[in-house]
Amino acid sequence: MLAAISARKQARALGIADGRFRIVLLERNPKPGAKIAISGGGHCNLTHAGDARHLLESGFLDRRERRFLRHAVHRFSNADLLELFGKYGLRTVSRENGRVFPASGLAGEVLELMQRMLLDSAAAVVPETRIDRLDFGVGSVVVYAGERRFEGDALILASGGASWGSSGTTGDGIRLAAAAGHTVARVLPALAPLWFNVPPHPDLVGISLRNVSLVAESKGVSDVRRGDVLVSHRGVSGPACLSLSRSVASLMASGAAPVTISVDLFPGYGEPALTAYLLDQAARHGSRLLRTVIQRMPVAPEQLRETGEPAQTIPNAFASELMRLAEIADEVTMSALGKRQRQRLVSLLKRLPLGTVRKVPLDRAEVSAGGVSLDEIDPKTMRSRLHPNLYCCGELLDYAGEVGGFNLQAAFSTGWVAGLEATRALFKAASAQPAQE
Ligand SMILES: Cc1cc2nc3c(=O)[nH]c(=O)nc-3n(C[C@H](O)[C@H](O)[C@H](O)COP(=O)(O)OP(=O)(O)OC[C@H]3O[C@@H](n4cnc5c(N)ncnc54)[C@H](O)[C@@H]3O)c2cc1C
Repeated sequence: MLAAISARKQARALGIADGRFRIVLLERNPKPGAKIAISGGGHCNLTHAGDARHLLESGFLDRRERRFLRHAVHRFSNADLLELFGKYGLRTVSRENGRVFPASGLAGEVLELMQRMLLDSAAAVVPETRIDRLDFGVGSVVVYAGERRFEGDALILASGGASWGSSGTTGDGIRLAAAAGHTVARVLPALAPLWFNVPPHPDLVGISLRNVSLVAESKGVSDVRRGDVLVSHRGVSGPACLSLSRSVASLMASGAAPVTISVDLFPGYGEPALTAYLLDQAARHGSRLLRTVIQRMPVAPEQLRETGEPAQTIPNAFASELMRLAEIADEVTMSALGKRQRQRLVSLLKRLPLGTVRKVPLDRAEVSAGGVSLDEIDPKTMRSRLHPNLYCCGELLDYAGEVGGFNLQAAFSTGWVAGLEATRALFKAASAQPAQE
């Protein structure tokens, strides 16, 4: 949608009358923008606050991705996006964590204004048209959707990734680019929940742990993310899990041994500090039940010092799980806690196993990682280095951002650049040709 809008803007800036330049948006759904409507849980976290450098560094953990996106994000930044949407009446709010939402909290408002922008761009939207084949000629491209055929001077492929297929994204564009000769990095889920072989104990389901560390491990390889974790009836979810899911999916795809997930309830503390804490509690409150002490322990306590927020103490169901795994009877008091038991408990507080991953579901992933190789797309124009009349933008490219508005911003920025540059190149080529009339 943004590519069509910027293409028209560029054409008008070059003095090209609308009638002389046809922009056609082929969409397999009844309407474009299905993902905008469901984004941010229906609230649409459309971008992230801060300057472009900060946005890239917080949103894209892979240096290769940042390098590729740098130009587009500077050229059409979050500020440019908000200015453009602001002209169409969108008011936004930036939350403390930098996420930007429409002030109304309604994703539908963003979609509706994008539809108005699209209307103003005089692009012809052809809905319910699923592209299934491309043919490249010299200076032309033919797009097929079943029996239907569309011919143009350039094609901007903006058909998204391969996750959340029910919204219309089943990796078609990635396959079309591959058929056109592009190298494609394996498509994997990112920003997804993790489903376990054995579902979590029902008592743990629904519990959210704040600002803990979630750890994935497979045969000595491990990765970790800090943030909130939500225990679901199939495994885990929540921001730390979504961020970790990409590397879990990649470990699983590499055929590595089972990937186990554990949680560190005290990320800022080592085992000696926790041991000292328990010994101190035993000295001061020998007759107190261990269970009571555990239930009063604040999760991720160093966050307290930073923010002064009230502590989240270890939830009861987790206290039971810790004691069960440490093989400590329910009625044990602090003075009766043996050294071995204390050691087992401390190591569990630092690494409480939650489960072994059965699946990272692609159809529940907010984005897919992998896609069209970044090496084969010019980051300044989004033009294919293989076909001069092909441009690629958005999630079908081999990048995936974190949760926080980064993925929409990357799609907007790359789409905007693709529209501008495809139009510029077309009219440059046309003006270099001898006049036809
Ligand atoms: C549940 C959910 C919530 C999300 N929330 C956020 C959020 O709050 N903030 C954020 O930054 N990101 C969010 N994302 C990610 C974000 O929506 C995507 O990264 C972004 O929309 C990608 O933009 P795109 O233009 O590349 O592709 P898409 O928005 O996926 O658009 C691709 C379009 O191409 C169409 N299409 C596909 N194949 C064909 C074909 N063969 N022929 C014709 N048309 C085709 C599709 O129907 C679709 O309309 C969320 C994703 C999901 C699934």
